[in-house]
Amino acid sequence: MQVPLLDLKPQYEQIRGEVLAAIAELCASQQFILGQHVEEIERKVAAYCQCQYACAVSSGTDALLMALMVENIGPGDEVITSPYTFFATAGAISRVGARPVFVDICHDTCNINTELIEAAITPRTKAIIPVHLYGQMADMDKIMALAERYQLVVIEDAAQAIGAQYKGRLACSMGHYGCLSFFPSKNLGAFGDAGMILCNDKDRAEKLKICRAHGSSPKYYHQFIGGNFRMDAMQAVVLLVKLKYLDTWTNGRQKNADDYQNLLAKIPNLSLPVTAATTTKHVFNQYVIRVHGGRRQAVWDGLKAADIGCDVYYPVPLHMQQCYASLGYHQGDFPESERAAAETLALPIYPELSHIQKRYVADTLASLCK
Ligand SMILES: *Cc1c(COP(=O)(O)O)cnc(C)c1O
Repeated sequence: MQVPLLDLKPQYEQIRGEVLAAIAELCASQQFILGQHVEEIERKVAAYCQCQYACAVSSGTDALLMALMVENIGPGDEVITSPYTFFATAGAISRVGARPVFVDICHDTCNINTELIEAAITPRTKAIIPVHLYGQMADMDKIMALAERYQLVVIEDAAQAIGAQYKGRLACSMGHYGCLSFFPSKNLGAFGDAGMILCNDKDRAEKLKICRAHGSSPKYYHQFIGGNFRMDAMQAVVLLVKLKYLDTWTNGRQKNADDYQNLLAKIPNLSLPVTAATTTKHVFNQYVIRVHGGRRQAVWDGLKAADIGCDVYYPVPLHMQQCYASLGYHQGDFPESERAAAETLALPIYPELSHIQKRYVADTLASLCK
């Protein structure tokens, strides 16, 4: 049996007619840049995330970059984030000329350890970028309290967490900015690259729109240096169709996670994902187990040999990346991140996974881990 890590084709089959009709209509109009569909997806995603303002952009990476740009964060500034995330989180900080300052993660959730943040704050600290890894929110109350005390901007990296909730509050609605990615493998995936920034502040929302179009307002009068960060109308029409199904697909992911929790419970040398007490909704962009006893590679190889897709998010924590050698971090600086990089393994969790497939994953794991 084959179980891919992610198969987007069954999802496409559910919406093919609708999506192709929407694309055909857009092609007939030849209105590819911004316009009504982009505005509509901004309104609908903002409402979905209980945020007031939205700016549809070219990717999740550009969403993070723009939030830093409109806050004027740059050379001499420091931004605190997790070393255990997709590279874009820290890359955006470096690209504006600021310095990423890493703070280790919690063992249970792989999200930033809020107990360790305060010690990393200096007079140069301007912002914190908590990452809601795998679809579960970081401990936002603690982060917002620190941000208020030290006058810091909070940019939520919610690329993996659309619809996730913390004590009943939605991802993107708690920080000063919330950044979403619509990369095809995210829970709400476009047909290419796309992203969005959400916020609840009118001035910030206006600046984001100006930044998205080379800092120009009015056209050809440039207030500051922005970029071409627009979402294509083509992506907007696809996302408008898919957004209607997002809750159904998220429920499918949660059901799969529940099933795995039962199917994998008794397997030795594994630990299963932990949902924090503060998490009122986990959207499971990834279902990540840990393999103990130094056996991750063997289990990974065994799953691959059994035609089961899996992957490691992420094998090298950011403080150990070659491009960040100049930051001066060393092996051992962030033990929980390094341990996660050595132990974690993501299993297939996409909504259309069948029960037989889940059973097969569980049986294969049981035989590999005994
Ligand atoms: C996917 C992802 C991003 C980047 O989003 P893109 O749309 O691929 O640019 C940023 N941060 C995290 C945590 C991600 O998972």
